[in-house]
Amino acid sequence: MQPRCACSILALALATGACKRGEGSPAAAEPAATATTTAAPTGEVAPTPVAAPEPAPPAVPGGGPDPLTLEASYSASIGSPNEGALQGGVPLPLSGPGYRFTPRKKPERRHGTVELVAALVRAAQHVHETMPGNTLTFGDISMPQGGEIAGHGSHRAGRDADVMFYLLDAEGAPAEGKAIPLDPEGKGTDYKDLAVGEDDVPVQIDLPRTWAFVAALLGDETLQLQQIYIVEHLRTLLLAQAKREKAPAELVQRFADVTCQPRFPHDDHMHIRVFCTPDDIAAGCNDVAPIYPWQRAFLKSHDSAPVAPPKRKTKRPKLTSVEEAREKAGPMHEDVVAFLDRRKAWVKPPHPGRTWCR
Ligand SMILES: [Zn+2]
Repeated sequence: MQPRCACSILALALATGACKRGEGSPAAAEPAATATTTAAPTGEVAPTPVAAPEPAPPAVPGGGPDPLTLEASYSASIGSPNEGALQGGVPLPLSGPGYRFTPRKKPERRHGTVELVAALVRAAQHVHETMPGNTLTFGDISMPQGGEIAGHGSHRAGRDADVMFYLLDAEGAPAEGKAIPLDPEGKGTDYKDLAVGEDDVPVQIDLPRTWAFVAALLGDETLQLQQIYIVEHLRTLLLAQAKREKAPAELVQRFADVTCQPRFPHDDHMHIRVFCTPDDIAAGCNDVAPIYPWQRAFLKSHDSAPVAPPKRKTKRPKLTSVEEAREKAGPMHEDVVAFLDRRKAWVKPPHPGRTWCR
């Protein structure tokens, strides 16, 4: 069964276990040869110089290079997030300090540009070091070479990543990161089997860690962050958290500028999108709206400018609607039905009036 659990799909479908668990293939550790000896004609054993072997790259869970060791030129994003491709895509390690790739998705769905993947890893590590104890769960990024990825309209050029919210249980202890829709108070329920009430576990957003993660991404100078798709009410809660912590006004304003609730609610995860780098633009990378004045200025300082994608060549993929997902989710007990009815109040898009989010 193809996983249909994407940012566009009601998380309650996720909770049904419709997504297959992916298999990782941990990289085998290669024994490192260092020198050989041969018998000299005299009978003495003389060392024969041999070329020093390349040092084995550090093994990361799931295989592939450590994204933190790669040059930006290793990868290139080609085309637009909706129709593009990915060259030299780097896999997000299946796990690392303070994070993991969701075990509910196939591991091939975790490839991105070096800039994106390295920044995600760094931001998660930062949270792990400053507020240890919880684990961030990443969802889909892109396929190894980009292109079509089931269940998404975008995620095709290695510049989009789905990120679950850090979660806590009802007592405030760290809880497993899952795509669970959260209400205007930042609360939700891990319904597990939707037809059974006894296995339900209440959860809530871990605001300090979720804010710390997005703040680290926004402060990462190797990354030009374009948008964070997130439901309006969680945006509001994160802004309040930033103010409580007296976060720098410029950072808070930048978060306010780049966050937007799209057509699908994004109440169970955030979707992070980054701009083309100047090198990627030279290789054929296209940016879609919005393009901020500060991004144009950044590109200009690198003798570059954004390039819009050509007219769409392929048909827009059909995405599962909230109603269809609800139908597919099968039988559900009355609390789930009540939550879904309540959820209608915030799935309606979007919230006009801001400069970059219409
Ligand atoms: Zn997404």
